[in-house]
Amino acid sequence: MIHDVVIVGSGPAGYTAAIYAARAQLSPVVLAGSVTAGGALMNTTEVENYPGFIDGIMGPQLMTQMQEQAERFGADVRYEDVTALELTGDVKRITTDDAVYEARAVIISTGSEYRKLGLEDEERLSGHGVSYCATCDGFFFKDQPIVVVGGGDSAMEEALFLSRFGSSVTVVHRRDELRASAVMAKRAHDDPKIDFAWNSRVVALNGQEALTSATLEDVNTGERRDIPAAGLFVAIGQIPRSELVADALELDDAGYITVQAPSQQTAIPGVFACGDVADPHYQQAITAAGSGCRAALDAEHYLATLTA
Ligand code: NAP
Repeated sequence: MIHDVVIVGSGPAGYTAAIYAARAQLSPVVLAGSVTAGGALMNTTEVENYPGFIDGIMGPQLMTQMQEQAERFGADVRYEDVTALELTGDVKRITTDDAVYEARAVIISTGSEYRKLGLEDEERLSGHGVSYCATCDGFFFKDQPIVVVGGGDSAMEEALFLSRFGSSVTVVHRRDELRASAVMAKRAHDDPKIDFAWNSRVVALNGQEALTSATLEDVNTGERRDIPAAGLFVAIGQIPRSELVADALELDDAGYITVQAPSQQTAIPGVFACGDVADPHYQQAITAAGSGCRAALDAEHYLATLTA
């Protein structure tokens, strides 16, 4: 059987694409992943900035609702991991652990992952003080000491956002010079609540139930010290999950799939990309959902040209 649309990935972008494709009678198959189904929001707590939920909504609940909304219109969600994609030609082949699918259009929405510090207690304390998203979690650290790790624009943006909440914000950077743009660096330097731990790296995260402090090491002297931290935000870059298509599609220098804006069309006809894997800038649930909508509309239009 040749499907009209197969969607690879199941965050807000994939499920929104599925809702639109299903409502367009394209009977999409969603390959949601066996472990990562639902995407990054499955690992968050309350989502307070997704429009329509006055009191916020838990990330997993939001994703479950999106999935059920897509299924209500006929999307076929399968918990399979894609292992290979053959995207050239009119009929694309998508191989999973369990099956091989053929489709005329493919939508890739595999998301991105936050680059991690790689510390022993990072995963254990994730959601208990350690976070990768200030706009998601900053509010929880009102009047408490906060640490931000990184020296790029993301770290400055996080630090500036967090200075509204924290009693203090300490930016920990492994060099003595920021990578961030001059304007962002100046804003951070000018903020009286933000200070900097230069030439430092975080070597340990401390706390039983929740984070209480971070151990810093001076990269030049090796000297160690603990600083109080109720919240520690890791902002050392993103890793787009584009490895499956690295040889097939055009990627930018950071590995994000290049699309022909304002569409979600990739370099290969019939192949569309949406959500974080194609978005180096915004990376919000709502922007991912919006691009998923665009990808589905683009796919619908593409399929119509095949039969015209
Ligand atoms: P980035 O520019 O790659 O910066 C990553 C930062 O993390 C660097 O300072 C890097 O240190 C540090 N780092 C990397 N790996 C580390 C590790 N293992 N341990 C400790 N530190 C580590 O990433 P980004 O800040 O996410 O920005 C990505 C892109 O988005 C950039 O082009 C940026 O300009 C753009 N952006 C723009 C804005 C804005 O304009 N408002 C906001 C956010 C992002 P080194 O400097 O030593 O390499």
